[in-house]
Amino acid sequence: MSRYDLLVKNGTLVIPRVGESRADLAVKDGRVVAIGDDIAASEADDVLDAAGKAVLPGAVDAHFHIGIYRELGLDAFEETRSSMVGGATSVVSYFRTGAHYLNKTGSYTDIFPEVLAAVEGKAWTDYGFHLAPMTVAQIDEIPQLVKEHGVTSFKYYMFYKGFDLASNSRDSRAFTMGDEYDLGHLFLMMEKIRQTQEENPDVRLSLSLHCEQSELMRVFIDRVRANGDPQNLKAYNDGRPPLTERVAIGEATTIASALGTNINLLHLSSSDAVAAAVQARDAYREIDMRFETTLHHLCLDYETLDAQGGLGGKVNPPIRTKADNEVLWDRVASGDISWVASDHACCMEELKGDQIWPATPGFGGTALLYPVMISEGHLKRGIPLHRIAEIVSANPAAAYNLKNKGSLLPGSDADFTIVDLEKTQTVTPEICLSGQDHTPFNGVELTGWPVTTVVGGNVNFKDGEIVGEPKGTYIKRV
Ligand SMILES: [Zn+2]
Repeated sequence: MSRYDLLVKNGTLVIPRVGESRADLAVKDGRVVAIGDDIAASEADDVLDAAGKAVLPGAVDAHFHIGIYRELGLDAFEETRSSMVGGATSVVSYFRTGAHYLNKTGSYTDIFPEVLAAVEGKAWTDYGFHLAPMTVAQIDEIPQLVKEHGVTSFKYYMFYKGFDLASNSRDSRAFTMGDEYDLGHLFLMMEKIRQTQEENPDVRLSLSLHCEQSELMRVFIDRVRANGDPQNLKAYNDGRPPLTERVAIGEATTIASALGTNINLLHLSSSDAVAAAVQARDAYREIDMRFETTLHHLCLDYETLDAQGGLGGKVNPPIRTKADNEVLWDRVASGDISWVASDHACCMEELKGDQIWPATPGFGGTALLYPVMISEGHLKRGIPLHRIAEIVSANPAAAYNLKNKGSLLPGSDADFTIVDLEKTQTVTPEICLSGQDHTPFNGVELTGWPVTTVVGGNVNFKDGEIVGEPKGTYIKRV
C-alpha cells in the first residue's frame, strides 16, 4: 500500500493568507496530508503533473440555487458538474419554501430532509444550504436547524415585501406562501439568529440579505412602463435602480445594528450599493458585516448585453454599467468585498422570452468562478493569486463555517483545482457543462482555466471532461 493516494507534483501552490510557493502536495483518505519541496512519485498511487501550473484551493461557490427552476436532483447533478469547470469544489445553495423550488410551504423540519434526500448522491461537489424562513413558525425552527442539520446561515429577501414577482401584483403572499413578509418579519428573524448565536459561540450564525426596496421598485417600474416600456436590460436596471439597494441596505443594517446580528449583504451590484454598505459598516463597527458581489456584476453591463439582444441577462439585482463593474473590482481588490460568488441558477432560455417583466430572473455562472477572477482580477487588474484564492475560497469558507475548506495546508479537505494560467478560451454554453442552454457570458474571452479539479481526493474533472462519479457530501457546518 502506498503512503499517499494522490500526489500533485511540480506545481505552484497558491495558499490563502500565505502566498504562492513551488511545492508538491500529497493526499491520503480525502485530506491533504503533506506539502514538500520534492515528494517522491513512488510514494503515491496516482500522480498529477502540475508543472508550470497553479494549484489553488477549490472555490467555495457561496451563492448558488440548486433546484430553483428544475428538479433538485437533476440540478444538483448538472450544475455542480458545471462548478468543477470553474474550479469550485463546494457550493452553498439557497433554499426556501414558496414559489419555485418545491413549490410548497410547511415546516423545515419536514421539508429540509426532503431536500437533502433529493440531492444526496447527485452532487459532484460538497454542498451546504442557506435557508430562508418565510413564516414565523419557520423562524422558531432556527435553533433546531442549527443543531440538527448544521445550517448556520439564513436569508431574507428585502424586495418580496408587497411585491409578487411572478404576477407583478402587490400580493407577495401568493409567491412566498408565508406570513406577512416585511421589516417586522426581518426583525423577528434577526432577533432569533442573535439569540441562537449566544447558544452557539463556536460558529458564526448569520443572516444574508438580498437588498432591493420593493416600494421604490413599484414607482420606478411604473415609470419605465409609462415611458415606452422598452423590453431590454436597461429598462430592468431603470425599474430597479441602485437607490433601491441603498435604501434596503440602510434598513437592514439599522435593524441588525440594534440587535447585534451578523449579516452578509449579497450580490452588491452597483457603486451606490457598495458605498452604502461600507458606510453602514463604518457606522456600526460593533456588528460583523460581510459583503458579496457576483461574477456578472463584475463583468457584464446592460449596454453591451442589449446591443447583443435577448433577455438572457435578466437577474436580480439587475446588471448595471461598465462604471459599476470598475468600482466593484476596486472594492474586491481593496478587501471591502469579502467574497465573489456566481449566484448560479440554471434558467433555460425559453423561460426568458421576449418580455422583460415576466422573464424569469437568474442564470448560471459557476463554471466561470476562477476563470473570471484569474483573467479579469489577477491578469488584467493585478490582484495577487493568493488574494483571488481568499476571495473565492478562504473567505466564504470562514464566513459560513466550512471548517476544512478554503486552504491547501495539511489537514484540509483535498479539494483543489490545477489551473493553466495561459489557457485562453471563449465562453460558450457547451464548455460550461451546465444544463443551461445559453449564457450571458457567451463570447467573453478568458485566460486562466482549471484543467483538473479534485473533490475530496477524487479527480472528477480533467481536460474539459468529467471523470468518475458524483461523490459530493452534505456539509454540516456545526
Ligand atoms: Zn441568489
